[in-house]
Amino acid sequence: MTGEQLFLRYAFPCVQAREIMGKISPKHSQELTTWAIQDLQPTRRRLKFCFPHAFRALRQLARANNRQTWSLINVQDYWRSNHGHEGDCAVQLVTVVNLNKIVTVNNGADQLPVVNLYGLHLRVGDKVYTHKRCIVELAA
Ligand SMILES: [Zn+2]
Repeated sequence: MTGEQLFLRYAFPCVQAREIMGKISPKHSQELTTWAIQDLQPTRRRLKFCFPHAFRALRQLARANNRQTWSLINVQDYWRSNHGHEGDCAVQLVTVVNLNKIVTVNNGADQLPVVNLYGLHLRVGDKVYTHKRCIVELAA
């Protein structure tokens, strides 16, 4: 997993909404979808262009911590701890409680259905990070 791939895994659940708002073109949306679903290496250039706010925040965080912008640790730190936002758009650390067709997770207050979009190998009790009701990565 590269920093670019992980960045796209977190950002990908926003692509459809950004396309509807006209912020991402259908061509770019298709390209991002292929990269995300087939787990290919995305280009930095396209990620910057399609997610300018997240990219700026990522770069700022790297500078503040003397790290490479696209390093895995910087990408993880950005999305896990510095993404901000509220509700479904917040990145949440949750526990897997049910592995039926729709995975259910517990966020401490409620049990929520989420999508295992990237086909992660999950067990009940695993801690995972979610964004926009999609499981992005295992916490461990
Ligand atoms: Zn968000």
